[in-house]
Formats: sequence, structure tokens, C-alpha cells
Amino acid sequence: MQNSVVVFAGPCAVEDEEQVKQVCSCLKSLGLSWIRGGVFKPRLSPASFQGLGKNGLDILVSNAKSYGLKTITEVLDQDSLDVIYPAVDALQIGTRNMSNYSLLKAIGKKTADSKMPVLFKRGMSAKISEWLTASEYIKLAGNDNIILCERGVRTFEDSTRYTLDISAVPVVHKQSSHPVCVDVSHAAGNSCFVPDLARAAIAAGADALMLEIHPNPMSAKCDGMQQLNLDEFTQLIKELQVIAKSLGKKLV
Ligand code: PEP
Ligand code: MN
Repeated sequence: MQNSVVVFAGPCAVEDEEQVKQVCSCLKSLGLSWIRGGVFKPRLSPASFQGLGKNGLDILVSNAKSYGLKTITEVLDQDSLDVIYPAVDALQIGTRNMSNYSLLKAIGKKTADSKMPVLFKRGMSAKISEWLTASEYIKLAGNDNIILCERGVRTFEDSTRYTLDISAVPVVHKQSSHPVCVDVSHAAGNSCFVPDLARAAIAAGADALMLEIHPNPMSAKCDGMQQLNLDEFTQLIKELQVIAKSLGKKLV
């Protein structure tokens, strides 16, 4: 990861085949190698769209394969772990599960042989020390291939959805040897702030970026406000390549 910045971009949630195809085609045309997409969604309200589950996973994985992209999706619980693990290239643990220690142990154990990358998001109210300590559950269960993902924390500030703790990048680099990802979309909550925060994340030394993108954000089934459309994303990636290059890195 040393000379690269990995981009985990894709829709908040997989919605249908056409959406995933369009996103895959855009990612491929930019020379990127991963697609993200939620299929088991942790939603605040049980009345909100919960994701397409196994059906969504099949749509994500089959299209990613035909475009030669790798896949990452969120594991919500032990049942979804069993379904997701055999199908994807990396697992995501969401902010709401940072302290779900039995799930962390189960994921560490399941991936102990394969050492599949685990993207481990910071709890929205967790100190960096608590987040790093929690990551030990995954490591002690057998897998230390962990990417730590800052995604914004709760503060008194409500101009953005969460407050992106950009300091987390250098602090984690100082205190751990794991790569650091910055999820700018969930921190911003509004796509208009995403480009500046993404530039800041790369400049601060992030090893990876997470970005939510959608062919038509206004019609998205979740997190529409914060998703970039594919033209905005294309423009942003071109700009970020320049910053990455100045640091001797390349977006992949
Ligand atoms: C997501 O990445 O889709 C997600 C739900 O993120 P978070 O866990 O950071 O809210
Ligand atoms: Mn989302």
C-alpha cells in the first residue's frame, strides 16, 4: 500500500443491476480496482431500506467480476458474515459494530487463514485508543490484515453529518502499523463537502479513501445527499491523482 492510495468507491447500497453496472464501468474507466456496496444495511429506522441481502451480494459480485474489480461490503452480524465471506475480497465493519466484540472475534477467526483485509471503522463516539484496542480482537482471533477507517465522529458541530477527525490519520500512523482509510462521505453527509475532505485526507497521508457514488444520487434508497454522481466522481479522481502524484503515490 506504500505507494498507493486505495479507493473504495461505490453506492451506499446496492439497488439493482443497472446501478452496479454503471458504477463498475466508471471505476474501471478510471483505472480503479475496488467497488464498495452495502447489501446488509444498518439503518437507524427499521422502516428504512435494509439492503437487498444475498440478492444484492450476487449483483455486486457478479458485475464486479465481469469488470475485473474487487469487492468490499459490510458484515452486519454473524449470519451475514457466513453469506458474505465466501463471496468478497474484503470485509467492512461499520461504525455501529466497532464495539461488538463477539462479531470482531468471529470475523478474526473466519479470516484467520485467508488473512482477508478487514476494513474496521471507528465508532462514531470512540476515542482513537478505544478503536485501536478494539482492533486487537480481530488480530488476536487470527487476522491482523486490518485497515483502520476514520469516518467522522459526533461533536457539537452539526454543519456536517459527523466531524471528520483528520488528525486520526497521523495519530493512527504514529500509534499503529495498520493502513488508514478515510471515509469522507459519511463524515460530510453532503456531497458538496466531499471533494475538499478527500483532498485533505490524501494530503494528511491516508492510505485509502472511501467514497459513496451513485449514477443518480437524488433517487438513491439511502444516503442520497452525500453520494457523488459519476461525473463529479470522475472529476474528483482526476484531481486527486495530481495530489497523490505529488506525494509519490498513485490512486488504485
Ligand atoms: C457504510 O459505509 O455504508 C456505512 C453504513 O458506514 P458507517 O458504518 O460509517 O455509518
Ligand atoms: Mn452510506
